[in-house]
Amino acid sequence: MRFSLKTKILVWFAGMVTILAVTVLVGLAVYTSREINRAVRNDVHTASKVLAQFIHERSQSLRDQSQLLARQPALMMRLLGRGDQSKPDFATVTDSLKEWLSQMHADGAEMTDQDGRVVGNTDGSSGHGVDYSKEAGVAAALNGSLWSGVSVQNGKLMLVVTVPVVEPVSKYVRGTFTTYSAIDSHVAEDLKGSVGSDVAFVNNGSVVGSSTSLPMRIPTPQVTPRVVVLNKMTYFVLYGTLPDTDQKSGLGFVLLRSYAPAMAIHNRLRKGFIVTSIAALMLAIAAGLIVAGGITRPLDGLVDAARTVREGEWPEDISISRSDEIGLLQSVFNEMTTAMRASQERLLSLIDCDPLTGLDNHRRFQERLGQEAARCTGSREALTIVIFDIDHFQEFNQKFGHAAGDDALKRIAQLLLSCMPEIGIAARYGGEEFVALLPQHTLDQGEEFAEKIRKLCFDSAEDNHEMRLSLSAGCAEIGTSYTQADELILAAELALSSAKQLGRNRVSRFDSLPGADENGDPYQLHKFLQDSSFATIQALAAAVDAKDPYTQGHSQRVAEYASALAKYIKLSQVEIELIYTTGTLHDVGKIGVPDAILKKPGRLDDDERAVMETHPVLGEVIIKKAPQLASTLPGVRHHHERWDGKGYPDRLAGEEIPYIARILAVADTFDAMTSDRPYRKGMAWEIALSEISKSAGTQFEPTLANAFVTMLEAVPLSKAA
Ligand code: GH3
Ligand code: MG
Ligand code: MG
Repeated sequence: MRFSLKTKILVWFAGMVTILAVTVLVGLAVYTSREINRAVRNDVHTASKVLAQFIHERSQSLRDQSQLLARQPALMMRLLGRGDQSKPDFATVTDSLKEWLSQMHADGAEMTDQDGRVVGNTDGSSGHGVDYSKEAGVAAALNGSLWSGVSVQNGKLMLVVTVPVVEPVSKYVRGTFTTYSAIDSHVAEDLKGSVGSDVAFVNNGSVVGSSTSLPMRIPTPQVTPRVVVLNKMTYFVLYGTLPDTDQKSGLGFVLLRSYAPAMAIHNRLRKGFIVTSIAALMLAIAAGLIVAGGITRPLDGLVDAARTVREGEWPEDISISRSDEIGLLQSVFNEMTTAMRASQERLLSLIDCDPLTGLDNHRRFQERLGQEAARCTGSREALTIVIFDIDHFQEFNQKFGHAAGDDALKRIAQLLLSCMPEIGIAARYGGEEFVALLPQHTLDQGEEFAEKIRKLCFDSAEDNHEMRLSLSAGCAEIGTSYTQADELILAAELALSSAKQLGRNRVSRFDSLPGADENGDPYQLHKFLQDSSFATIQALAAAVDAKDPYTQGHSQRVAEYASALAKYIKLSQVEIELIYTTGTLHDVGKIGVPDAILKKPGRLDDDERAVMETHPVLGEVIIKKAPQLASTLPGVRHHHERWDGKGYPDRLAGEEIPYIARILAVADTFDAMTSDRPYRKGMAWEIALSEISKSAGTQFEPTLANAFVTMLEAVPLSKAA
């Protein structure tokens, strides 16, 4: 079982006081018992001494008086007869003895003749002629000695003194004279007067005289006093041997000290102490509660705060309630949470912030774009995005160094921030790309904003034209048919790509025309790009072709011509399939070309052609969004390059051009020549093939052009049609 700190402290306090109290009480009891035992033993000792004195004095007095009598000649005559005189009878002697007794303060007397036979007895305990010669006292007296001792006579304790009765001249022992003095209740009362405790005389446990009324038998503890209840009174009882007696005789006295008075002081002390102990216990519990509360309350606060931290939140500072170690713990805890909080905030800001420019970083921008896109679709508010890319920044770095490049990035970031409307969000989108997210801004307003930034940037390096930097920008507004953040970005990237293709230092916009074919929207593109199954790719190509009714089926046919050529020149199956897929996707960038140009019935002017020629790069931008289609990128970007280096977008020549792109160039051109246009009819196969032959080495790689022509010439005319 687990106990709280509070309980433990309380138990500790109360336990200590209880142990202390019990120890004192036990000590008190032991001390009291020892003191009482000592007092009782003292009493016994005193009683013994007093008793010995009493016996001594009494026997001395009896002896003196007896001797005085025994030496009188009249006594012999009267009691024992003399010479020829006849011996007095028992009654006469007894009467004389009684007479003397009255003068002697003795309780009984007895006389024997020279043979130790009783001749007179005051208490009638033994009759005439009974032989006492073997009794110790009588025997000693017959031998001429004095004798005294204690013995039991007729159930009474008696002091006995026997003296010889001696003939004066001859010194002949004519008999013995014995006197008795009772050691009875009177003596006991006298003793009580001296020692202050009751006394009882006992013969082997039977009471033979006492200062108080007692049962017939009482206990006789020898060494240690015992508590005994006698006649409803409680006593400490201790036995003492009678002086001048043999211990084996069983004659002695018992001292009885009343229990209640003896214990009175102890009881008073004990009572007082128990009351004090209870008070101390209460005080200890109260003190325990105060101490425990003082310790556990701040600890509880710390535990709560630590739990708050565990749950990922920051607690309020704990108020420091003490100046001891607990107070120190509280203040250290506060410092710890403050430091942790600061470091978490620093880390969080690093997660969201671009360290070079201080703008939001790409991750944070994506997050905010997602939030804004969701909010705008809900509220049907406008939302425009502008992506800026610094033109020829690599050259700038090479010319002026990376440090200057970094400074330029910081300067443009500041420029962007300073022009940003309050609700706008500026972020560093990539290396030398910035993005502005403009809630509640239409595409026109966004374009205006982008144009302003472009101009300010271009004009800012007036003094040093060498270091002048230009920006290209692409803007797109969240549309009616495309509403997702990803599509908005793709639309802006397509517009930016277009701006780059059209000569840089300009702003392009991606228009989502109301009523336009849905498949032409970035939303649909996105959906297609999530899934690169063959059927999806074909559907995508069909959607692209569908933008221009005159190019219906174009992508499909290019894929077939190109893959047929690949097969014809014995490329591997994997390459044939890649060429087919690339052929299907090669014109996907036309999604970013305005319909007005794409569907223009007549020839395109220079500007229009420039826009049209952005489509391979736009295709690349689109397909980059689908990493699983990455192998088609070279073919898509370069299918308008020419063998002689006069193509676009990169003016690559000869073997610089990716092989797939060279194959696609032939197939694409052949289908374009043989398809009908609004302003002209499609060429016949043979004419087209001869055109291809003529362009071998200029527009096309010669071997490929020749192989294509040979391949198609072998196809029967009927099938070709
Ligand atoms: P374009 O007009 O087509 O955009 O040409 P560009 O040279 O700007 O584009 P490109 O993508 O080829 O090169 C981007 C360069 O931006 C490459 C890199 O040296 C530079 N760049 C990217 N991030 C940083 C940066 O943090 N500091 C510096 N100094 N240069 C950077
Ligand atoms: Mg770039
Ligand atoms: Mg650039």
